[in-house]
Parts: sequence; structure tokens; C-alpha cells
Amino acid sequence: MTSRKILIYFLLAVSFASITAESFSQSRKQKMRKPKNIILMIGDGMGLSQVYTGYTAKGSTFNMLRFPVTGLVKTNSADNYITDSGAGATAYATGQKTNNGYISVDPAGQKLETILECAEKHGLSTGLVATSAITHATPAGFIAHTSNRGNMEDIARDFLNTDIDLFIGGGYDNFRTRKDSLNLIDSLLKHGYFVARDLGDIDYPTVSKLAALLAPGHMPRVSAGRADMLPRSSELALKILKRNKKGFFLMIEGSQIDWGGHDNNLDYVKEEVIDFDDAIGKVLEFALKDKETLVIVTADHETGGLALTGGDLKTGQVSGKFVYTDHTGVMVPVFAIGPGSELFSGFMENTDIYKKCMSLFGF
Ligand code: MG
Ligand code: ZN
Repeated sequence: MTSRKILIYFLLAVSFASITAESFSQSRKQKMRKPKNIILMIGDGMGLSQVYTGYTAKGSTFNMLRFPVTGLVKTNSADNYITDSGAGATAYATGQKTNNGYISVDPAGQKLETILECAEKHGLSTGLVATSAITHATPAGFIAHTSNRGNMEDIARDFLNTDIDLFIGGGYDNFRTRKDSLNLIDSLLKHGYFVARDLGDIDYPTVSKLAALLAPGHMPRVSAGRADMLPRSSELALKILKRNKKGFFLMIEGSQIDWGGHDNNLDYVKEEVIDFDDAIGKVLEFALKDKETLVIVTADHETGGLALTGGDLKTGQVSGKFVYTDHTGVMVPVFAIGPGSELFSGFMENTDIYKKCMSLFGF
């Protein structure tokens, strides 16, 4: 081949490559569909070791590995290298970093509107599901505003300031046996909520607004009587929320993965990750059929500094060591599937999750 021919071939190849790259990025843009519904699932304290503990124990049916898009999330809060769940939830709910212990107020104490409140304003349905008290930091971050996450009675009051369609978790006493003797259960009834103390009491086709307060405080752990409350609640929430033609926003939390970490109890972590993953299975079943739902699974932070020191993928046995009884500063994984999920690959700040969801909703 002459050098001139080589040059021509080279130029042809270069122009062909640039044309295909351009048309590829154009088709990507055209294909970028927006979701009608967004489901944000937070495994509290769920780092990569916790995820892999669940995978090892549950095996090939582990749902978190079915997500086509994965990324990494930086979790630090405004005032600390290591976040708490209040600042973590605030980042996901409002797109702003705040101080540890704060719930959807900025470091100066100013109220920040949450994605759930914004979704309500736009006529979407909204819901919160947790295995802690529903007034605990993570769910609270989506609906309440306070610089003291410990004040769960104030947080309960905030549930009546937003027209949330359903919430399921523990925390009955924060609505009913309060220091100020207010009866917020009566207020919920006046606002049209069906108030349930047991999932079995809910005849979902007749329920439009639901307040399911299934324990006086936090729910027990799976093996202490909670059983499949989280997967069942997730399924029920979807049946109610999907009625809205405009769409919905739902946050589901596996609250107690964190508590297994604080206790340095690997069995507790394992049980809670598997339970959370079972709930993910119910959500995926819905989303894959619905095709208009974006599902995001992530964590607010890692807890315990868990290292896996041994295991067996055949028997599901896994052993590990914790270096710490509190949260750690390491990045956490994010998994996404559905319309808009491609935005969740690569590296991001925890506040970016909110920004991506808001832009996908078109708010
Ligand atoms: Mg939590
Ligand atoms: Zn914690």
C-alpha cells in the first residue's frame, strides 16, 4: 500500500469513528426516558461489605446484583467527615449537606423543602416505609424539619404538615403518648388517614391514605418477630401509590442494617440485608412490569467498618470483623434500574442523588 492510500484509509476511518460517536451520543440523548415514578431505597449503614454479606448468604437470588447501573456515593456531611443518618437523609431529600443531627434544615437551621414535599405539590403520590420508628432520622429527613433528630415528637407533628399518602413503620407512641398530650392519631383520622396497628388490618382497595404504625417504638429485628414486614409493606405501598396517573415518590428504608453494625453483630447485619433485598425483589417485580419506574438503591453511610474475613459461596457461610461501633467515612454503592438510571453510574456526591431525581421528575 502506498503511503497516500494509507493516509486516505486513515482519514476515512477517523471520520467514520467520529460520525458513529456523534450518532451514538445523539441516540443516547433521544433514548433517555424520564420516569413517572421514583423509588429510593436506603439501606441504613449498608456499605459494600454488608452488601456482599447478604449476597454470600442469600446466593444467586440476591436482587442487588440484578441492577445494570452502579456507582459510588460520597457521604460526608457539612460539619463532619463521617455523616449521621439525619444529615445523610437530608442530602438525599433536599440536595444539601447539613450538620450531623439535623433533619432537612440547613447548617443555619433554615427549613429546606424535600423532594417528597415537592412531589406532593406537583400532584404526585408519596410514601415512606421503614423498619425503625417512622419518626427516626432517615424517614424523617423526607418530611420533617428540625435541628434535633432526637425530638421525635416534633417530627411526628410534621407528618401532618404534608399531605403524604402513606407511611408504614414503627413509632405509634410519638403520635399518641406524647409529653404535650396532643392526640395525633385523632388528627390523622381527621385528615382522612386509615390508621393501622397491624398490616393484616389493612384492606388496601378501600384505603386511600394510610398511616400504619406497627409498633410503639422501633420495629423488632426480623428474627425477633418482624418477619417479612418490609417486603410486604413495600408491596402494599406500591399497590396504593400506583393508582395516581401522575406518578409517585416512595422511600423505603432497611433501617436496621445500621443497628447490626453498631452492635458488631454480623448475623443481625446478614438478616437485615437479606430482608432489605427481599423488599428490593418486590420493588423490581413491580418496576420491571411497569417500565415507567426508576429504582435507586443506596445507603446513607457504612456502619462498623466491616471486613469480610472468610466465607463460602456454596454454603452461604460468611465471617467478618468490625473495627468500630459507629459509622465510617467510606463511600457507599448505588444501584439503579429503569428510565433515567444511566445518570447514576460513576462517582457522585450524596446530594447529587436528589439533583438527578429532581431533574428526572422535571421539577
Ligand atoms: Mg435510618
Ligand atoms: Zn447508625
